[in-house]
Amino acid sequence: MVKQSFAVIGLGRFGTSIASKLIEADQEVMGIDINEERVEEGKLLVTHAVVLDSTEEESLKAVGIRNFDYVIVAIGNDMQASILTVLILKEMGVKQVIAKALNKRHGQVLTKVGADWVVHPERDMGERVAHQLLSPNVLNYIELSKDYNIEEIMLPPCMARKTLRELDLRAKYNVNVIAILSNENLIISPFPEHLIQNGDKAVVIGHRDDLNKLANLK
Ligand code: ATP
Repeated sequence: MVKQSFAVIGLGRFGTSIASKLIEADQEVMGIDINEERVEEGKLLVTHAVVLDSTEEESLKAVGIRNFDYVIVAIGNDMQASILTVLILKEMGVKQVIAKALNKRHGQVLTKVGADWVVHPERDMGERVAHQLLSPNVLNYIELSKDYNIEEIMLPPCMARKTLRELDLRAKYNVNVIAILSNENLIISPFPEHLIQNGDKAVVIGHRDDLNKLANLK
């Protein structure tokens, strides 16, 4: 994987979970927090950790924030600090700023001041939990648009020992198989002769209604 540089501002649960995943992926991560204790704890986790107030432009300049490929603003409760930080970062010319929003209004303001990607962790996680409860066979999904998804679906036992040609998911369910996950092996663009095993998962693209039908097969 290409090594990129990330700065995470705000080392709460959200910020530290992003930072540790990035470190696990062998990326360079600077952790920033106004709270010294959080920085002390964060030191064990990131490449460098510094105490600073991200609403102070000079402090951000001093750590060379402009040179980072991505800056993640993981400040939540102090909306004013989060908005001001995003504004300063974009004014300083940081290319990619990702910011956490507490609610819809906060998100709209973050977009207005230039955030390149606004995330709503509580809202998005709530939606995912509801989705998972409604379709337990859907293990993961990406929303491509209002109507279309890519979903990782647990295939029902009745499909085991059949080839993709026999199953003919395109004709029967109007979905396309992108990949099969079989015993930790990922088979991209599987051939029609590919034989499905018990417990295989399929990564499929299609209309939400069609995917639902496939995911609810017993
Ligand atoms: P989480 O929900 O991620 O656990 P939290 O509830 O601890 O976070 P938040 O208000 O979301 O608290 O803030 C996240 C972190 O951002 C805190 O550790 C806080 O000290 C830090 N923070 C807040 N304001 C600033 C600032 N101006 N500069 C740098 N860090 C800040």
